[in-house]
Amino acid sequence: CGIVGYVGRRPALEVVTAGLRRLEYRGYDSAGVAVLADGVLAVAKKAGKLVNLEKELGEHPLPAATAGLGHTRWATHGAPNDVNAHPHLDDAGRVAVVHNGIIENFAALRAELEERGRRLVSDTDTEVVSHLLAEEYSACGDLAEAMRLVCRRLEGAFTLVAVAAEEPGVVVGARRNSPLVAGVAQGEGFLASDVAAFIEYTRDALELGQDQVVELRRDEADGSVAVTVTGFDGRPAEVREFHIDWDASA
Ligand code: GLU
Repeated sequence: CGIVGYVGRRPALEVVTAGLRRLEYRGYDSAGVAVLADGVLAVAKKAGKLVNLEKELGEHPLPAATAGLGHTRWATHGAPNDVNAHPHLDDAGRVAVVHNGIIENFAALRAELEERGRRLVSDTDTEVVSHLLAEEYSACGDLAEAMRLVCRRLEGAFTLVAVAAEEPGVVVGARRNSPLVAGVAQGEGFLASDVAAFIEYTRDALELGQDQVVELRRDEADGSVAVTVTGFDGRPAEVREFHIDWDASA
């Protein structure tokens, strides 16, 4: 029941797993991560507690990466097993997505995708999003725009965070009826369902509004991170900036 996304100068896997630890108090039944290294998405996911995932990562280490995402799942559709754990990918493994919430119209979207020959491998409501996102992304070449197009088709409650193999410096998030915050610091950016996930790195945050998409884009040359927020319709959106001044060391 927690989400973390990261792009920046630190080892992404460490930031993401530390964030998941910070969100553990919410309860969950499975956990997973994906990192983006040299144009390849590498994924690890496991049913059970984070120690299971950490054991898996110890046995099969993921490559060093500077962008990634992580998820702790509280299953609503599909048993809590390794396959149903997030992240979910498209057929070609080019897009990875994590999701908290419920996609109410997933059955119709799944039928439509299967009709187009997509092969879905999990029993989750979430997996339709990774396939739809990959389709839109290959059509428009812009992950944030692809996310907006997909979100317009979704019903229900969702916090979504996604990365694409072709965009190593970009992490995208979206929300409806479910929380999403962004954290920004020198040369790095965070997305999470709760500020607790990144408070050890930055206290400067943005609260996303209803039906908004956020893009964190890191400039390879100077390391700066640009934050762009729009509505699902693509119009620039107002966001609330805030400083986290409560003590999170507890
Ligand atoms: N509905 C999704 C699933 O069952 C996400 C659950 C969650 O919020 O963790 O996989």
